[in-house]
Amino acid sequence: MAVDHKKADATEESLHRIFTVPEAPDSTLGRIEKEISENLNAFLQTHIAAREKPLAEIEKDFSSAALPEAPSFVSDHTHFLLDKLVAQSVHTSAPSFIGHMTSALPYFLMPLSKIMIGLNQNLVKIETSKAFTPLERQVLGMLHNLIYREEDSFYQQWMHSANHSLGAFCSGGTIANITALWVARNNALKPDGEFRGVAQEGLFRAMKHYGYEDLAVLVSERGHYSLKKAADVLGIGRDCVIPVKTDSNNRVRVDDLKQKLAELKHKNIKPFAIIGVAGTTETGNIDPLDELADIAEQHDCHFHVDAAWGGATLMSNAHRPKLKGVERADSVTIDAHKQLYVPMGAGMVIFKNPAHMTAIEHHAEYILRKGSKDLGSHTLEGSRSGMAMLLYASLNIISRPGYEMLINNSIDKAKYFADLIEQHQDFELISEPELCLLTYRYVPERTQRALSLANEQDKEALLDALDDITKFIQKRQRESGKSFVSRTRLTPEKWNRKATTVFRVVLANPLTTEQILQDVLEEQRMIAQQSFISFPKIQSLTDKILNENEMAE
Ligand SMILES: *Cc1c(COP(=O)(O)O)cnc(C)c1O
Repeated sequence: MAVDHKKADATEESLHRIFTVPEAPDSTLGRIEKEISENLNAFLQTHIAAREKPLAEIEKDFSSAALPEAPSFVSDHTHFLLDKLVAQSVHTSAPSFIGHMTSALPYFLMPLSKIMIGLNQNLVKIETSKAFTPLERQVLGMLHNLIYREEDSFYQQWMHSANHSLGAFCSGGTIANITALWVARNNALKPDGEFRGVAQEGLFRAMKHYGYEDLAVLVSERGHYSLKKAADVLGIGRDCVIPVKTDSNNRVRVDDLKQKLAELKHKNIKPFAIIGVAGTTETGNIDPLDELADIAEQHDCHFHVDAAWGGATLMSNAHRPKLKGVERADSVTIDAHKQLYVPMGAGMVIFKNPAHMTAIEHHAEYILRKGSKDLGSHTLEGSRSGMAMLLYASLNIISRPGYEMLINNSIDKAKYFADLIEQHQDFELISEPELCLLTYRYVPERTQRALSLANEQDKEALLDALDDITKFIQKRQRESGKSFVSRTRLTPEKWNRKATTVFRVVLANPLTTEQILQDVLEEQRMIAQQSFISFPKIQSLTDKILNENEMAE
C-alpha cells in the first residue's frame, strides 16, 4: 500500500510531460530498461521472488477498488510493480520451467515490440495500419504455404485480393478455433433459395429451413476445451461437441468416429465439422489426419485441424510427415505464441480455400466497405495490434531451417527425458513423446513390483495414493520455485483406463539442458519422501502386498 508515498499533482503540465518527456536514463524506469536489454534473464532472476507467496496474501496487495484520486510518480509506481507484481510473477522463460506451452523468447523481440507499441497500428482497417495490412496478409500467406504448399501463382493471385482471405490473425488458438467453426457453421447453413443463411436469419430459422434435428461437431476426447466454448458462442451448445474415443496412444479412434457419425445420421443430426488434433494439449499426440480427411469428405463435413500447439512442427522436414493429411484440412489453427516463439497474443486460423471466409464477411458503412482490403471484415475481433510484425520478423530472422533446428532439438530432448525416466527405477513413463511433450509419474521400484502382484482392491488403494503423491510433488516443486512441471489427468490403457494423475512436461525451451532434466527428477524423488501422508501409505501398502505374495510362494 502506497499511503505514505508522496503524490504528484494532476496538472496540465504534468500530463503534458508524460506524453512528451521520456524517462531519464538514471530514473527507475530508465535503469530497468537498461537491465532488461542487457540481461533479461538476470533481471527476471533478480526481481521474481524465489519463494511463492500464498495467493490470498497477494490478493491483499490488489484489494482496493478505489480509483486513484491523485497521480503517483512514475518511479514510485514502478517500485510498487516490481515489489508486488513482478516479484510474484512466474518465470515462464526459466529453463527449468518445463510445464508450459510458452517458453523463452528471442532477444530481438523486445526492442521490436517497442516499435510495435510505439506505432500502435490498428489492423482492423487499412486507414489505421497501412503497410501492416499487406504485411499481415503476407504472414497469412506464408503460413498457408507452410501447410498447403500451393504454387507461387496461387499466392500472387489471392494473398492481397480484397474479397478473399487466406486466414485470420487473432489473439490465440481459442479465437482461431471459434473462427474456423463459425465459417463451417455458416457454410453448412448457407443461403438457399428464400432462406438468407444462418448469418442473417439465425440458428432457429436455419434449422427449420434445413429440417435438421440438431447440429454436431466431432473431436477426440482429448480435444481442447476451447472447442466447447466455440460451440457455446455459436449457439450450437456444448453437448453438441461429440467426444470420440482415443486409442492407447491418445489418438482418435476412426472406428468410433464412424460409429458416432452413423448414430447422428440415424437421428437426423447434421455433423458439420470433424476436427483433428495435431498435438493434443495433454500428451502432444497427433490424430490420423489423412483418415479423418477421407471421412470428412465422405460425410460432406468441414475438416478442421487444431494444430495450435503442434502446427509449428511443419517447419521441420524431419518431423513434418507426422502431420500428413493436414494439407487436406479446410482450416487449420496455429498459435505463433507457442512453438513459434512469439509473445502471447498471436494465433492464426488458415483456410485452404481463399473464398471460404466470405461466409463470415461483415461490412459496415464507415469502415470495412465492400471491396476494401480491411482485415476487419473477416475477423471476429475488432481492433487488433500489429503482432503479425513480430511473427514476420521471427520468420525472417530465424528462418525455416532455424525453426526446424528448434523443433528437432525439442523433440530430441523429450526423447532423452523419456529414456531417463524409463531407466530410472522410481519413475514410470505414462505417454511417450511423439512431439516434445510427455507425461510420467513417480512410482518407487518396489511399488511398481507390488502393483503387478496386487489384488484389485489393494491396487486401487495404491493407485489412489500415487495420485495423491503426484499432486503433492507437483505442488511442492512449484512452491519451492526452482523448477516447474505441470500436471494433468489421463486414462492410461495400462491402468485399465482409470483416471490417473501425471506430471506433464513440454520441452520447448532451447536453454533447458540434460542436467536440468536430471535435477528435476532428483528433486521430485526427494520431495516424495517429504509427503508424510502419501509416502508412508504407499510404503506400507507396498510392504503388505509384497509380504503376502512372498508367503504365497
Ligand atoms: C493452446 C491450445 C488452444 C488454445 O489456444 P489459446 O492460444 O490458449 O487460446 C487450442 N487448441 C490446442 C490444441 C492448444 O494447444
